[in-house]
Amino acid sequence: VTTSIGIIGCGFAGLSSALFLSQRQDCEITLYDRFETVQAVGAGILIQPSSQEVLKKLNLYDNLVASGEKVFVLKGLSHYQKQVFMTRYKDYQTDSFGIGIHRSILFNLLYEACQKQNNIHFRLGEDIHPEHLADLQQQHNLVIIANGSHSQLRQSLPIKQSYSLYPYGCAWTSFAQDDYSLNQLSQYVRFSKEMFGVLPSGTINNQRMVSVFWSLPITQKDTYNKDSMFSGMQHYLQHQAGGESLLELIQQQDFAFAVYADVQMKSYFHQNMVVIGDAAHGMSPQLGQGANMALLDGYFLDKYLQLDNADTIMQSIAQYSRKRAQHLRFYSQASKFLTPLFQSDFIGHGLMRDALFSVSQKLPFSQKLSSHIMCGKRLGWWCGRELEY
Ligand SMILES: Cc1cc2nc3c(=O)[nH]c(=O)nc-3n(C[C@H](O)[C@H](O)[C@H](O)COP(=O)(O)OP(=O)(O)OC[C@H]3O[C@@H](n4cnc5c(N)ncnc54)[C@H](O)[C@@H]3O)c2cc1C
Repeated sequence: VTTSIGIIGCGFAGLSSALFLSQRQDCEITLYDRFETVQAVGAGILIQPSSQEVLKKLNLYDNLVASGEKVFVLKGLSHYQKQVFMTRYKDYQTDSFGIGIHRSILFNLLYEACQKQNNIHFRLGEDIHPEHLADLQQQHNLVIIANGSHSQLRQSLPIKQSYSLYPYGCAWTSFAQDDYSLNQLSQYVRFSKEMFGVLPSGTINNQRMVSVFWSLPITQKDTYNKDSMFSGMQHYLQHQAGGESLLELIQQQDFAFAVYADVQMKSYFHQNMVVIGDAAHGMSPQLGQGANMALLDGYFLDKYLQLDNADTIMQSIAQYSRKRAQHLRFYSQASKFLTPLFQSDFIGHGLMRDALFSVSQKLPFSQKLSSHIMCGKRLGWWCGRELEY
């Protein structure tokens, strides 16, 4: 018997789950997206060791490494040139690293792989509303909701949940640049009121790319003053080798604004529907985990799914929901705890962060903990166990 699966949303969660599920015989997958032409809008992201494992299983890892840039450290400097933090991947495990990559490169790898599968069908230009869900539940044996953190579909489900926008977002841009912040994510901070990041983002058309982020309250989304943003950036860049020429390039770019939400759900399934990716657990990008979690969801959903009949489908999505909860809750909480230390109006948050990190930088144990958290496989603050694949 053929099992029909409908997936709403062609982001990292939707595409990765479609690819895993397409390896099964007798499975027909339909991917819906509201856009006629699907593409990844956005800047660079960091692919952590946790989801590098997933991309290896999808045979996309070599391409990822070839078009991304290895990132070995995350370095934070304060407005008075003091090192606030330095998190090294190798403190978690020698040979481990993050991969800085422009979102569109990863998106294209996944999308092209999906297009090659005969049992994946695309229904693009279809905006799915909550009132369509009942029909989709009839048409498909399983419906996967993967339409991002602002999902109205999730909100229509009778599952205890919360959704709130973070008070700060960021202005961002990406552009070609040869050598600034090579193999490292650089962050510059003034207490918690200013945060400026430069992330290597891989190679597009033989040009090395970087992404630049500048934190701002979401109330300034449409009104922020670019000149004051540039003068803020100059304060940090004037002290860095190559900083002045980076600033010149930044001043020529168009910026977009990203707003992010905290999403929590008590469980991730209802009847024959399961919610994955940002739709299920949107978090702030402070820990660089959202895309990683979306890819992991795709892998684990496939791992637990049994498609024999309606009962096994419902039992297995319930099992997925239980098994995934510990890892997801830990990273949601950690993001929620850390975000105000970097983005808030209250200067005390930044002072607290600097005090906390200056002590923890001297302790090998806490350096290892920070590195472990960044790698994306940890299951709790005190629980040293790792995610098992
Ligand atoms: C500034 C910024 C920096 C970030 N940096 C990192 C990082 O370094 N590392 C990291 O891991 N993550 C990072 N993230 C988070 C990461 O981008 C997200 O977690 C990830 O993209 C979520 O993927 P998703 O597939 O769940 O959802 P999305 O990528 O949001 O995809 C949802 C899809 O659903 C479609 N859709 C929406 N509504 C409907 C509808 N009603 N009907 C049909 N289709 C619909 C949309 O068109 C879209 O294609 C960052 C995010 C931001 C904003």
